[in-house]
Amino acid sequence: MTKAGIGVESNLTYYSRVSAMHVNTYYDLLTAFRLEGCPICRLVRLAVDSYLDSLDYEFINDAKVRKDLVVSFGFCKDHAEQWFERPRLLATCILYRDVVAYLGYHLHLKRRELFEKRSSRGWNRRLRSSLENIRRLIKSKPVCPVCDFQQEEEHKYLSALLQGFEDESFEEAYMKSHGLCLLHLFLGLDIAAEDSSVSILLIDKALMEQRKHMDLVVQCLQSQSYNSVAAYTPKSSEIYSIVQHLCGDPRLDRKPQIHCEKNTLA
Ligand SMILES: [Zn+2]
Ligand SMILES: [Zn+2]
Repeated sequence: MTKAGIGVESNLTYYSRVSAMHVNTYYDLLTAFRLEGCPICRLVRLAVDSYLDSLDYEFINDAKVRKDLVVSFGFCKDHAEQWFERPRLLATCILYRDVVAYLGYHLHLKRRELFEKRSSRGWNRRLRSSLENIRRLIKSKPVCPVCDFQQEEEHKYLSALLQGFEDESFEEAYMKSHGLCLLHLFLGLDIAAEDSSVSILLIDKALMEQRKHMDLVVQCLQSQSYNSVAAYTPKSSEIYSIVQHLCGDPRLDRKPQIHCEKNTLA
């Protein structure tokens, strides 16, 4: 087998292993409906956690996986934060040694280019074009591979959600849940596209939540006074949870319940 062949095979193994951890999407969704917040946010967060774990334990040494991470200059801000939720010093050093070296290579290259151009005529114009090249390099860098994985998982769970509505008990469980955050509601409507009955169901559920949210906000507003210095009322935490839910609060998924419940459902 060629070196390239080995690389491709190990990469496929990596992705298939990661997705094999999440085959029970239907039951995962049913469990997530009973928990706080947007079920898709919760499940995607867990999937990304598993992805980062497998990077940490093994696949950071896979040439193809590491190259994808290096050319994107490592993780994006959100996934760097999630990566550092657990101590991963060795894998961090292995990865960021290559990221820092890659960045250094490009900076040295550009510096030399600029230095050489400075001594020739019209360097000012060429300096601007070199700086533009650096900006282009940063803008055109590939998206963080974890973001790619996250999008695939969002699509997988949203598709399973829409398909699940064919089952009456699944639909019922969804209607009792907290519903989707705004991002996943709009993505779900996008995926549902021409299927008007599924789209109406998603919208009806969102409206049901919207009415509850509106009642809470109005009640909270009525209990507030502009002269009052006490910002906290019994309703405050519910108001914050509305905001967290609508924007898809990533902290929801730090709660471990889903792991316990998943075992009993599987
Ligand atoms: Zn969400
Ligand atoms: Zn990312």
